[in-house]
Amino acid sequence: MATKEEGMTVFDVEAANVLSKELRDVFASGKTRSYEWRISQLKSIVKMCDEHEEDIADALRQDLSKPQLESIVYELLMMDILRLFNLRKPCLVQFCLAGYSCNQILTMVKNSCTLAIKELKRWMMPEKVAALNIAPLFVAKTSLTTFPSSAEIMSEPLGAVLIISAWNYPFLLSMDPLVAAIAAGNAMVLKPSELAPASSSLLAKLLPKYLDCCSIKVVEGAVSETCALLEQKWDKIFYTGHCRIQIFYTLAPLQEAVGIWEYVGLGDHVIHLLPRDGMYLFRFESDKMHYYGMLLTWSDATIVSGQCCSDNSALPVCNGRVGRIVMAAAAKYLTPVVLELGGKSPVVVDSDIDIQVATRRIIVGKWGCNNGQACISPDYIITTKDCAEKLVDSLKKELEAFYGKNPLESKDLSRIVNSDHYARLTNLLDEDKVSGKIVYGGERNEANLRIAPTILLGVPQNSLMMKEEIFGPLLPILTVSKIEDSFDIINSGTKPLAAYLFTNNKKLKQQFLMSVSAGGVVINDTALHLTVHSLPFGGVGESGMGSYHGKFSFDAFTHKKAVVYRSFVGDASVRYPPYTRGKLRL
Ligand code: NAD
Repeated sequence: MATKEEGMTVFDVEAANVLSKELRDVFASGKTRSYEWRISQLKSIVKMCDEHEEDIADALRQDLSKPQLESIVYELLMMDILRLFNLRKPCLVQFCLAGYSCNQILTMVKNSCTLAIKELKRWMMPEKVAALNIAPLFVAKTSLTTFPSSAEIMSEPLGAVLIISAWNYPFLLSMDPLVAAIAAGNAMVLKPSELAPASSSLLAKLLPKYLDCCSIKVVEGAVSETCALLEQKWDKIFYTGHCRIQIFYTLAPLQEAVGIWEYVGLGDHVIHLLPRDGMYLFRFESDKMHYYGMLLTWSDATIVSGQCCSDNSALPVCNGRVGRIVMAAAAKYLTPVVLELGGKSPVVVDSDIDIQVATRRIIVGKWGCNNGQACISPDYIITTKDCAEKLVDSLKKELEAFYGKNPLESKDLSRIVNSDHYARLTNLLDEDKVSGKIVYGGERNEANLRIAPTILLGVPQNSLMMKEEIFGPLLPILTVSKIEDSFDIINSGTKPLAAYLFTNNKKLKQQFLMSVSAGGVVINDTALHLTVHSLPFGGVGESGMGSYHGKFSFDAFTHKKAVVYRSFVGDASVRYPPYTRGKLRL
């Protein structure tokens, strides 16, 4: 059970165990399977969004300082357009408005509910396949052994599922998978991100008021709470977050050890690593003692050995990347996972385009989406040497038109989520390899965690900025001699979550689609595929596995059960031993 410490409830492994058992029991009761239960929960979510629009927008403003004016403008516009289309054309609406404000987020959640409410009967209905009872001998893929019979695919809820969410769209990324899990008829627990505390606590307060709190639980907390949940047996884990461990810049405790410290951790153990000359310095805190040392060997997933300065005790084994932590935990029970991760999403800009339109679409996908803190934000641009100057000029002109001469003061740009991420981003900018490459922006204000839209030209590919997902307002531009060379640059990294191409050249479009593997692709725009509910949204390779949105969300939390129906007639003896030639001749 949860233990009390200084008046606070601690959510530990034992508490997680009790909670998972409760969810398992409620699922076993059959309550969450019914159409009526699913619909009532989905309708309650719409009601909650309507009745707490202001509270939700306020929480998002607290967590991310979402531009208020943008929200109001978008809200009115969105609501009017939605009324016009009777809430049935979310894609069209989203196409009209490429950035994502608080109220768009609310609308996206409501749209997911509305779509599920409208389609649920159809989605739940068993899908008839190859009717084998009609003229079986003339229908391909049928056999005497299955005659006469019929077959169908039944959509079966998975059971008790765990949803772990990220901070950058804390409401949407919590609610969208939750809507999906409800539509599919599961019991569930949601673990929102601790880095968006206002949204997390609002969800913990509102969901039990509106939803069936026996079947839908919220657990607030950080790494240790997540790990306690991950130790339990689930029927699906849906994780949105980093594929890599977070990298933070901190003031180094060792005098010469200034640089990037990586955090790795499992449970309560956190180890801070600093790459140095092919090795890692590490800082490890245990029993209030701090140990420093040089890590001798390091594999991607496990600390193999280390030598401590102050203590030679063995280090705990730690997984190196959060996505892998989730998958490793899931492997213990063979639990299927959806991993919605990130990556470096490239934008390839050809020369034969309407540069102003392209620029505006890049800007809104980058800085208009949470000031670059979105999983599908353009991470870097590749263009030809002769086009780069034109593109930079256009970006400068449009950025100034959108955010003014002093973007740090702009009310239309979100702030950086917290001081760790601010330090991480400024460290990318301050790296020696990058100095002198800024062609626009670069201003920052640590006091209010603001960084201006920043464009860099000629950033080397071996810089930290080009190795890590930027996840912020910095946009490096790389140049190539011919545009097709961009494919090699993209393919030299891990597969991105999104890839964008601006061109009018049909052949280049085809080449791009054939050569670049990415979770999703948009030609001549950015970020819009997220809003098209008839498309699956998810990554490939290191940018994730599995997908959701629209019907794909329902499928993500559903088992497709193969069912064959037979009657007692047509019991062909050919199936049964003894297998004689005589029987086959019949
Ligand atoms: P994160 O991995 O730091 O946190 C996500 C969740 O994992 C949180 O709930 C957190 O409590 C938990 N967590 C963090 N470290 C953990 C650990 N060591 N052990 C167990 N649990 C742990 O990710 P984030 O910073 O919240 O999100 C940013 C990342 O997520 C970016 O890479 C971004 O691209 C990606 N992202 C992807 C999508 C998508 O839909 N594909 C959407 C949003 C964000």
